[in-house]
Amino acid sequence: MSITSLARPEIQALHAYDAAEQVDDTVRLNANESPAANLSGDFRRPLNRYPEVRPQRLQATLARRFGCASDQLLVTRGSSEAIDLIIRSFCRAGVDSILTPSPSFSMYRHYAELQAAAVIEVAMDEEQDFAIDVDAMLAACEEDTKVVFVCSPNNPTGTPLARADLLRLLAARRDKSLVVVDEAYIEFGEQPSAIDLLGDYPNLLVLRTLSKALAYAGARCGAVAGASDVIGLLSAVQAPYALATPVVECVEDALAEDQLELAAAAVREVQRERSRLTAAVAAYDFVSKVWPSDANFFLIRTAAAAEIVEHCKVHKVLLRHFGGELSDCIRITVGSESDNDALLRALNSFRKD
Ligand code: PMP
Repeated sequence: MSITSLARPEIQALHAYDAAEQVDDTVRLNANESPAANLSGDFRRPLNRYPEVRPQRLQATLARRFGCASDQLLVTRGSSEAIDLIIRSFCRAGVDSILTPSPSFSMYRHYAELQAAAVIEVAMDEEQDFAIDVDAMLAACEEDTKVVFVCSPNNPTGTPLARADLLRLLAARRDKSLVVVDEAYIEFGEQPSAIDLLGDYPNLLVLRTLSKALAYAGARCGAVAGASDVIGLLSAVQAPYALATPVVECVEDALAEDQLELAAAAVREVQRERSRLTAAVAAYDFVSKVWPSDANFFLIRTAAAAEIVEHCKVHKVLLRHFGGELSDCIRITVGSESDNDALLRALNSFRKD
């Protein structure tokens, strides 16, 4: 049985869009494009032509970088688009559900709601540093739970998922659910990617993004890796020509060796600043807890969360305050040294202004 049999029946039957053929060095009279070159930008592929339906070279480069085969990877408009594609492809409206630990990244719920899929949330324990409780997640799965999302390191808690726990989750849901491991922040921690497990678990999907460690959030580029038949299905659902020529070329350039070295150095700097900032923030008497984090942010607990966020805003530093179960918490992104100094100056004057 292929895991694609879990997809919505109409998606299983869907054929990829039949795009006009693209062959180098030919006269293209098959796509109703303009023959006129235009003046905007200086791109290797002229903008009067459609981009490739799927950017082949970029796909191969990202697959090599992340450690999978080219047909096991789909390039997406940020990993957000991959979340949408997965839920839309596998969850029947009004019938199927997704399952996610809570707190976690809110877009899983957002796209589930758009697709009218139910959302089962399993609360994680603050006192256990929000460690993902795989037994509780498995117990909460229902008959029609089609997709389980785990974010590692988790946003907004910074907690990684241990490899042994992931293996248990993948094995227990083998023919029943896709297990999506969202690795948006993986470069900032020490855990290896789950991509090496793709061969053993056809129900595994891994999300990667260029928005964080690679510093290209503005380019909107990410990827989903998984079994080639699942990737083929997601590709049939994704819009043809999804990745625009300027984005493809910009990201190809970002993946050049010298650029990757700069990005890796920037990650190391964020890790150093994370140590400095967490230690400094933990020293304030109004901060009762700083959770350890494997990401480029960390979560703190304080009885004065809303006031601190407001105070920092007045001092032109924006922090993230969530409601609900995290109403006494603030998520702080690690910035540059001077950004972080600005935050510490603002915190120094809290209750002293
Ligand atoms: N996953 C997680 C856990 C995130 O925090 C984010 C962005 N904040 C994303 C996915 C989406 O990022 P993007 O669409 O930029 O790849």
